[in-house]
Amino acid sequence: MSGEAADTGPAVRRLADWSAADLRDLAAEYDTPLYVTDRDRVRENAARLRAAFPDADVHYAVKAHTGRAVLEVVREAGLGAECASAGEVVRALDAGFEAVQYTAVNPPAADLDVVVDRWRAGADLTVVAGARDTLDRLRERGFDGRLAVRVNPGVGAGHHEKVTTGGHAKFGVPYDRAAEVVADARADFDVVGIHAHAGSGISGEDLSAHRELVARMGELAREVGDLEFVDVGGGFGVPYREDEPPLDLPAVADATREALGAVDAQLAVEPGRYVVADAGVLLTRVNTVKPVDDAGATGAVPVVAGVDAGMTTLLRPAMYDAYHAIRNLTDDRPERPVTVAGPVCETADLFCEGRSMPSPRRGDLLAVGNAGAYGYEMASTYNSRPRPAEVVRDGDGTRLARERETIADVTALEVER
Ligand SMILES: *Cc1c(COP(=O)(O)O)cnc(C)c1O
Repeated sequence: MSGEAADTGPAVRRLADWSAADLRDLAAEYDTPLYVTDRDRVRENAARLRAAFPDADVHYAVKAHTGRAVLEVVREAGLGAECASAGEVVRALDAGFEAVQYTAVNPPAADLDVVVDRWRAGADLTVVAGARDTLDRLRERGFDGRLAVRVNPGVGAGHHEKVTTGGHAKFGVPYDRAAEVVADARADFDVVGIHAHAGSGISGEDLSAHRELVARMGELAREVGDLEFVDVGGGFGVPYREDEPPLDLPAVADATREALGAVDAQLAVEPGRYVVADAGVLLTRVNTVKPVDDAGATGAVPVVAGVDAGMTTLLRPAMYDAYHAIRNLTDDRPERPVTVAGPVCETADLFCEGRSMPSPRRGDLLAVGNAGAYGYEMASTYNSRPRPAEVVRDGDGTRLARERETIADVTALEVER
């Protein structure tokens, strides 16, 4: 990084801040559904994290958005990469990340094989192991490199139970046994850190769980000593609702340092969502509009607006009941209750239900906000629906970053007898 302070931008970018004219142009040029990712905003978010945690290692949890175009700017901003699979490790290394961390959660053998091969070939990798069994499997493969022990801190935080990982037995070694596991691991590995991740959803009101996790990790670090870093995870929340305040990042950073206490090791954090969420929107077009109740109610009859994106494009509403802001980019008509529904025959395939918004018409273009994190990454081809395209913006320029999948792509791997 250069010596100049990087532009950290405003604390949040709302859906309303995107230029409707620009987004309409993109939809016209690239068709819908379309993910739009603003790399300048990714840069600002990364810079804001670096500024709030100037003396910490900041690793980007690449699973939030693993597109090459994003990985490049995150690397240029000076962040490392936190990876959840062999595929992510390979993509992070290909994108030129120097410090790559692989956090193995019940790792498949094939993942460990690939990661250990890369390490043997000279990649600067740190493996985070969350079970003694994983240590055995690393030993079997001859790995004796940089290792951190993932600890189950016994506290979890999250916007939904499915992303609350801290307390579940699946994640990490029990806190009470962590020091012993670290001591054992030292015989065979270069133990450089301890690690915990409580889940996704550190918010302004909910710093107590974060503080508790960090305090426990600080205590453990002092107990085991001789560490390079104490990684307290990611989970920095973003305001999905338009009236939610943005995370007070300096306050989170202060609370983190205070809770950690004096440790002879570097603080490390690994945010994913925070880096990319508000850097992305999903554009989708209204295909069909039908009144919920034809029976003559006057005024604001609720309608269902069927759009060309669905749970296969953006899974979060279906999977986590997640709220995403939705904006009509075509016209600002009087509002009525609108249910925005995808084309999949599942009741969960709704972006919102009965939300007050401008009355939609066929052909209208809608933008779904905060789609930059866990958007494209969780897209699927369920219903044989090709995955959407993605464009990235830099300054005033826009280019295609991921081609729209085709039906031929969806069937490409089928084997004929
Ligand atoms: C998912 C994950 C993160 C990032 O979580 P965000 O909520 O996107 O910040 C960090 N660390 C680990 C181990 C994770 O699994």
